[in-house]
Amino acid sequence: MPEMSTTTRAYVGLGSNIESPGAQLGRALEALAALPHTRILARSSFYRTAPVGFGDQPDFVNAVVLVDTSLSAHALLAALLAIERAQGRVRGMPNGPRTLDLDILLYDDLVLRDSELTLPHPRMHERAFVLVPLAELAPDLVVPGRGVVRELAWRSAAHQMVERIDADSLA
Ligand code: AMP
Repeated sequence: MPEMSTTTRAYVGLGSNIESPGAQLGRALEALAALPHTRILARSSFYRTAPVGFGDQPDFVNAVVLVDTSLSAHALLAALLAIERAQGRVRGMPNGPRTLDLDILLYDDLVLRDSELTLPHPRMHERAFVLVPLAELAPDLVVPGRGVVRELAWRSAAHQMVERIDADSLA
């Protein structure tokens, strides 16, 4: 009998604000596409967004991708952290400048909290830089315990700058 393989749909958030953010996201997309047992099904536009928390730093470029994967949530996280490291991520201050940040936003409708991983991502429901690109891919998606993406995006975007950009106008 052929082996059954189960796959999961996961949403991954990407962000960068130093060392050519648009190029960083482009490289990260290539690395995601090359992950084993993982396919990119859709990606949002790129967005220019204002830094949240620590304001005295360059604007970010953010995007969200939908992947289909048979990696476990923890294996996917390990793969994302390896891509961050490969692109020179050094862990500095929380919310500080970074070459690349990759987060698992949602892994199907899994709700999980352990020492390495929290799902859904614990701050996604209040971040316009995540919700606006996510709403482009899945406006009707429900974030478990938080609400519908479209409404969360609309609420958060009222007080955070998030601006869609053309990929070719990226610095
Ligand atoms: P940061 O890159 O500053 O967002 O923090 C990354 C760390 O947060 C990782 O080392 C993970 O162990 C932890 N973490 C917890 N939940 C998540 C998640 N849903 N996606 C990515 N990292 C997570």
